[in-house]
Amino acid sequence: MSTSATPAVRDSGERYRRTELYNVVDGDSIDGVGTFDKYSPVDGSAVASVHEAGDEIVDAAVGSARRALDGEWARWTVAERAGLLRRVADVIEERAEELAAAEVADTGKPLATARELDVARAAANFRTFADVVSASGLDSFLTETPDGRRALNYAVRRSLGVVAVIVPWNLPLLLLTWKVAPALACGNAVVVKPSEETPSTATMLAEVLREAGAPRGVYNVVHGFGPGSAGEWLTAHPDVDGVTFTGESSTGAAIMRAVAPHVRPVSFELGGKNAAVVFADADPQRVIDGLARSVFTNTGQVCLCTERLYIERPVFDEIAAGLAERARKLMLGRPEDPVTTTGPLISTEHREKVLGHYRIAEQEGADTMVGGGIPELGAELDAGAWIEPTLWTDLDNSARTLREEIFGPAAALVPFDTEDEAVRLANDTRYGLAACVWTRDLERGHRVAQRMRVGMSWVNTWYLRDLRSPFGGIGLSGIGREGGAHSLDFYTEPTNVCVAL
Ligand code: NAD
Repeated sequence: MSTSATPAVRDSGERYRRTELYNVVDGDSIDGVGTFDKYSPVDGSAVASVHEAGDEIVDAAVGSARRALDGEWARWTVAERAGLLRRVADVIEERAEELAAAEVADTGKPLATARELDVARAAANFRTFADVVSASGLDSFLTETPDGRRALNYAVRRSLGVVAVIVPWNLPLLLLTWKVAPALACGNAVVVKPSEETPSTATMLAEVLREAGAPRGVYNVVHGFGPGSAGEWLTAHPDVDGVTFTGESSTGAAIMRAVAPHVRPVSFELGGKNAAVVFADADPQRVIDGLARSVFTNTGQVCLCTERLYIERPVFDEIAAGLAERARKLMLGRPEDPVTTTGPLISTEHREKVLGHYRIAEQEGADTMVGGGIPELGAELDAGAWIEPTLWTDLDNSARTLREEIFGPAAALVPFDTEDEAVRLANDTRYGLAACVWTRDLERGHRVAQRMRVGMSWVNTWYLRDLRSPFGGIGLSGIGREGGAHSLDFYTEPTNVCVAL
């Protein structure tokens, strides 16, 4: 098997900076009960020493958030909170290079991706929710009961309270701010538990918020892991009023069990096994560009990435060959090299999991068109979590390769003959996050997009989205929707007031 890409590795000679990251409680940096090391997935160099929160620190963080809710924060008007969010966006932009560098150090993703995808979107998240919360009105109406009594009814939204925010490592600042911005817009106080793999930008956001004028205690950070660590202690804490989580479906199930005794609301954005359906009438070049992006962006580590490609038989060979060519041209290399398109996976542990899927595909009889293993990138990068972008054919929907989320730069291509067959194959999954449909027939585009059992469908594109639209999944892919006014529904409790007239 050939290596998938001619690697463009330029060793800048720089190792990634080692910093010390603390928990943040009530605006103060707090030592952990111990520390753990975070290593660069690019070359294995030490990036940070992270102070791990014990259960007392988690308790103190929740207490700090509770006190913040009872303090001056409770008197901030919607306009003042929207103003804070806009200032946060400005500070993120002022500190964009520093945040992008931290994101790169943690994830190894290309610097251009960190700037354009992660940091730019973090600022957009704050601006969007400043606008959304400013535009939200109160529902009020006069009412008359059957016995003729009149009343004024209105609904007020009160904040949910102390919100636990637990996020993964793939788009760390983007996914964190997607939750923190609406939570603060709605007057909540948060305790965030970033992924142990990407602790940097969540810690830096505390400085950004302070600089923008947020009161102490509205944003707290606890570092650590999941079970038997900060993640579990936070979700099981009796004084947490709601949990918003992005990550694996199985972790969502564990969090649900932890939250259950306290009967608190949850919002879950979970895993996916997303499909693309390509009809023979689609513009082949556009399809190949779109599929290359949807399979390989961020080394396949975006929950919306496509791992199942259903292609109408007459164009199967053409699309497969075009996509394979694109995969071979991906440039694996150091993040700061401008020609790099593709970084490593997040860690060598995650690479073991993805390689396990590569082995399963082989055992299942796949024909590996491209990739399938670990690339040769030179000794400097040997300790990194590099993997070859990979495409398979000759598998059907019964294969584990088409049923289990891989979360790497890999997809299986399967031919189909009719629209009904394509819809059946695409919907034959317990996940239901996203799908994309490729066709020049607009009527069919709408029809098939609506038949997809997912939270989000695209026609002739991928990833493009207005941040006010609902975001979330069906089945194993999640519970609830965030985005625009949907986020306000999760981060507030509407309360009805009825005044007799
Ligand atoms: P993960 O579930 O392993 O971890 C996510 C976070 O949860 C981390 O901070 C982790 O420390 C914490 N955690 C783990 N176990 C916990 C527990 N028992 N209690 C509390 N917290 C716990 O996910 P990951 O590997 O970091 O991220 C990859 C997954 O995230 C993929 O499945 C991907 O599809 C999913 N994802 C979904 C979306 C979406 O919007 N639907 C977006 C990005 C990623």
